[in-house]
Amino acid sequence: MTRPPRFDAAAEEVARVAAAALDWDALAAAARPCVACPELAATRQHVVVGDAPAGGRPRFALVGEAPGANEDQTGRPFVGKSGQLLDQLLAEAGLARAEAAVLNIVKCRPPGNRTPKAPEVARCSGWLRRQLELLDPPVVVALGLSSAKWFLGPRTVLAEARGRAHDVDGRAVWATYHPSAAIRFGPNGAPRAGLLADLTAVAGTLA
Ligand code: SF4
Repeated sequence: MTRPPRFDAAAEEVARVAAAALDWDALAAAARPCVACPELAATRQHVVVGDAPAGGRPRFALVGEAPGANEDQTGRPFVGKSGQLLDQLLAEAGLARAEAAVLNIVKCRPPGNRTPKAPEVARCSGWLRRQLELLDPPVVVALGLSSAKWFLGPRTVLAEARGRAHDVDGRAVWATYHPSAAIRFGPNGAPRAGLLADLTAVAGTLA
């Protein structure tokens, strides 16, 4: 997993505050006022902490890259077009979103939906690492290359990593396409079919 660079005091502070949170609610309360990334903190509407099933360990976690405009506006993850497609494909695969934790690598929307910068990923990693510790999902689905790289390393190639589980700190991590890629390439494109195939394979391991 991505570790914060030692020189980044803000990343170390996030990790310290996150580690002190003893449950999901405490972590969410600590993360919402976070201003570790000045540009993102100045432009966001909400820190999108994520969703977790009420009372209990999630069967799996979905981890995307960062909130988009709809997520920023509502404070909830995957509620825009990507989220709608994700919900549809989860249902087709036989998976229930209500049983999943839904998280992002970076919790604040980057302006114009740009790719999060390395220091932003490093800073926000403290929140995500603690979320995974607290929720302890046995299976993680990394949606898109940024998420796949966070779990599997910076040299990850999505096409090579897909289609099987990777053991990461005792969890089964599956890397697959982000729903936004599935939208971009259309209903008959390879990303949509690949995402559905991967979610179906994950469902098979959870049955
Ligand atoms: S992206 Fe993460 S670390 Fe940066 S300000 Fe938002 S919550 Fe804090």
